[in-house]
Amino acid sequence: MPKTNDRRPATEQPSTRIGYGFDSHEFHAGVPLKIGGITLEHDKGLCGHSDGDVLLHAITDALLGAVAAPDIGALFPPSDPKWKGADSVIFLREALKRVHDAGYAVANIDASLILAAPKIGPHASAIRTRVAELLGVHCDRVGLKAKTPEGLNLDSAAIAHVVVLLQRSPQKHSRTKSR
Ligand code: MG
Repeated sequence: MPKTNDRRPATEQPSTRIGYGFDSHEFHAGVPLKIGGITLEHDKGLCGHSDGDVLLHAITDALLGAVAAPDIGALFPPSDPKWKGADSVIFLREALKRVHDAGYAVANIDASLILAAPKIGPHASAIRTRVAELLGVHCDRVGLKAKTPEGLNLDSAAIAHVVVLLQRSPQKHSRTKSR
């Protein structure tokens, strides 16, 4: 059984890894609504210590989880005033850097958003395009579904679930190569 601090060469690491991320945020009036790195027109926005971007937070945690890194709350604690109102793109970029440093690249992601309003359909293409741009992949690697929370009486919050598949990248991303 390998030790948890295993640092075997990347060639001995698995060729693929998966990650899963979940997040939720509450709607409040008078707050901009940011989902997937873009701002949507709506009378309420998602409240959080940062900009409340529920989708970017779930993607960030999926990426971090895939490489067994600390989660978003550990890396960017809400108790730190530094992250108050922060653009969640910062969190995503740090997670992606850790993925690359571990010797992996994003193969694809699949996300589900659960919220009563606004309708995501008209914005889905823009969200997928922005998320793909942030991840450095083609938008056909980014799946996005939006569900209304039927039967859950959940009008006050938005939820995001994300899975990500990583594939071992060529040597240029391998941290073992530079040692
Ligand atoms: Mg969050």
